[in-house]
Amino acid sequence: MSEADILSARDVPLGGPRSMTVRRTLPQRARTLIGAWCFVDHYGPDDVSETGGMDVAPHPHTGLQTVSWLFSGEIEHRDSLGSHAYVRPGELNLMTGGHGISHTEVSTARTTVLHGVQLWVALPDEHRHAARDFQHHAPDPVRLDGARARVFLGTLAGETSPVRTFTPLLGAELVLDPHATVTLAVDAAFEHGLLVDRGRVRMADTVVEQAELGYLDTGRTTLTLTNETDTEARVILLGGTPFGEEIVMWWNFIGRSHEDIAQAREDWMTGDRFGVVKGYDGDPLPAPELPNVPLKPRGRVR
Ligand code: MN
Repeated sequence: MSEADILSARDVPLGGPRSMTVRRTLPQRARTLIGAWCFVDHYGPDDVSETGGMDVAPHPHTGLQTVSWLFSGEIEHRDSLGSHAYVRPGELNLMTGGHGISHTEVSTARTTVLHGVQLWVALPDEHRHAARDFQHHAPDPVRLDGARARVFLGTLAGETSPVRTFTPLLGAELVLDPHATVTLAVDAAFEHGLLVDRGRVRMADTVVEQAELGYLDTGRTTLTLTNETDTEARVILLGGTPFGEEIVMWWNFIGRSHEDIAQAREDWMTGDRFGVVKGYDGDPLPAPELPNVPLKPRGRVR
């Protein structure tokens, strides 16, 4: 089979004063993970004078890494490690929650149009209590015949990101020339996801429309992408080896059991596990109430 599965986005309010909306393609009923990628939010282009931009108060993470990647705009990041950084277009910001971190994300006053993705990576059991960490990397663009690529995690088109991951992963932005076709060598052990930010892109024999996420299973050594439009198309290509563990995802936490999540929630509301973010003007986000039924682990295939 050379057909891709299409995962459509649903609109989710992110919170904040005027509640910016994001398009979420992962997780969803049909799929929990692509490699260790477990969360794909895509937003914009938003005129921040209308949407209010991004203003996410201190909130915790455990058991995962967050990847912030922008196409336009600027986000100020602060975390309980003491990091203070600016997320800018073409620059990877990778935060490791590990055992526990808290952070804030605020679009800056310089930002007029906010446009990007936020992605989460599930940590494997042996590393899910890793120390909190924050890394920044601005990959050099790679010119291909018909496209240019920025490889922020893993290897593609002869370019390898120096950023360490806990499982084999690929994360790259590709801009395809009008009507261009590119064939990329890929790892046959990887499954892949293609998020189309702009345009319509054929992957294998399936057209992936704007804001959709196309999925391809393992077992291919090349990936052929065709821009079906008269203008540049932009995509995010994700990949990784199938994640062999079941996870429980709830709010901003990933664990392996309902008890893990309940403990993380309690630690956020009453403890010091997640540290303190300095320099943000506002109160931390309270955790929602846990559901009345136990949270169930979910794996790659449901
Ligand atoms: Mn966060």
